[in-house]
Amino acid sequence: MQAIWRNEWVHEYETPWSIFEKLSFANRVSRDDIFKLSGNSIERNKINPKKGDRKIDLFSLRSFDESILEVIFGLNLVKFTQQSIQSLTKPLHSNRFPNTSWFSKHLRWCNQCISYGHHSWLHQFKLLEHCPFHNVKLEDTCARCNKNIPFLFSNRFFGNAFSCKCGFKFADFSSTLWENWDKKFKIVDSATLHWLSLSNTNQEDGRILILPEFGNLNILSVFHPYIAKKSFTKENNKISIDDFYYSTQFNKELYYNNVDTFQTVDRHIRKNVLWKHSNCIKQFWQLLKNDGEDFPDICPYAYAYVNWRKTLLKTERFYRSDIRKNDVARSGGRFGYELLTSAITDDIKLLLEEYVLKNNGEKINKDTLEWIQEQWTYRFSLIFFYECLKYSEDILVNDKKNTNWDKILMDTKANFKIAFKYQEVNVMSAKRINLMMYYENTIDTKIVEHQCPNHSLRKKRAISKMKSYVPARISIEYPKNYELINYVSSYIKKHDY
Ligand SMILES: [Zn+2]
Ligand SMILES: [Zn+2]
Ligand SMILES: [Zn+2]
Repeated sequence: MQAIWRNEWVHEYETPWSIFEKLSFANRVSRDDIFKLSGNSIERNKINPKKGDRKIDLFSLRSFDESILEVIFGLNLVKFTQQSIQSLTKPLHSNRFPNTSWFSKHLRWCNQCISYGHHSWLHQFKLLEHCPFHNVKLEDTCARCNKNIPFLFSNRFFGNAFSCKCGFKFADFSSTLWENWDKKFKIVDSATLHWLSLSNTNQEDGRILILPEFGNLNILSVFHPYIAKKSFTKENNKISIDDFYYSTQFNKELYYNNVDTFQTVDRHIRKNVLWKHSNCIKQFWQLLKNDGEDFPDICPYAYAYVNWRKTLLKTERFYRSDIRKNDVARSGGRFGYELLTSAITDDIKLLLEEYVLKNNGEKINKDTLEWIQEQWTYRFSLIFFYECLKYSEDILVNDKKNTNWDKILMDTKANFKIAFKYQEVNVMSAKRINLMMYYENTIDTKIVEHQCPNHSLRKKRAISKMKSYVPARISIEYPKNYELINYVSSYIKKHDY
């Protein structure tokens, strides 16, 4: 094939996606034509999936014939792609995650770069939220159809070259054609430059511990100070990866450790934010009301607090059916890895697993695991509470039309960036582990003021005279009062999920 192609159209870290889009545009050929020519024989001869439905992986390019691609582009695209991916992920030294898990599975692009035909692995890299060349927020949804577009070589999700299936053009080259495709951009983001220098020289200031969904380069850059630091002896309290998975003793200890952390956050919030609302919390939590009256207005502070607990601990009900018992389950961890703060158990477990696995079979001090648990749980629980508080009045008024507690949880996670670094150091011939925690919350943390319906002392006092209408009590005390039973259960339904 005598294709129109210029070496200058390929930039450092360029993805095969934009390389193929440029080939398609410059030669007025479809993706199917490109595939017919350069797909390997096994893939080309596959009857299924239907031609137009092909979804071809752009990470490995294994459906293509490497040598044909080299003839077309004058460059070994397969190796070029592997090198880009490797050099971006090299400082991570991850045992738990394959290289590809650090890149978005749907297309993310910079409007300025794409207007020059440029799309970079740096745009796909999950640890970046901004274009490192232009410092603008990356796009990830089509402006017309509002959808994420899978990062694949496929006619199913893309229309003409550089356009979404819906017709939206990421860039319009109808007048300039390929005039500007050779334009080179400089990386201006210092965190990215620092990251790339790590992968070139292989020098690190400590090993990095981070999850793809909870990290960014900002917190890992030398310019970002650590938020907390602790030093541990290397030889104490050692556990192995098997203990991590199977030791009841370890799991119970970690569970208790997590209960303590949660109660620390809980006390902090009640003391510093909710100190005027303890009656309000009691009222909503215990389903208190006056005989013969409706349930009173719910205080937005109490509403946020009760639902924060329910969502974070994944409890079944928002109300407390037995008010005498401590509502925190102290018996967890007996059957494997478990935390009281269930909504973040899996995230923390992934990180701890990665940490233990990275130690190449060596046992590690379990205090380090507990410290990581504490840092994550404390920070996350706190900002999640502030997010619940931000939206509680909206949910009270609009009844989950705009948002709901699970969505707030997911958004909080998306903006919660945390990483750890660890170093082995010798202090007076004893080996020690230094752990550093880096953290950033990219959400707006403005504290919202709400109107409390129980502001006056009279209203506060009235709450202490109310009675609890939890289902267990009314079904005993008013077994035949169906009107009351229905009223209470519809009230519960409205405020539960
Ligand atoms: Zn850009
Ligand atoms: Zn679209
Ligand atoms: Zn209140």
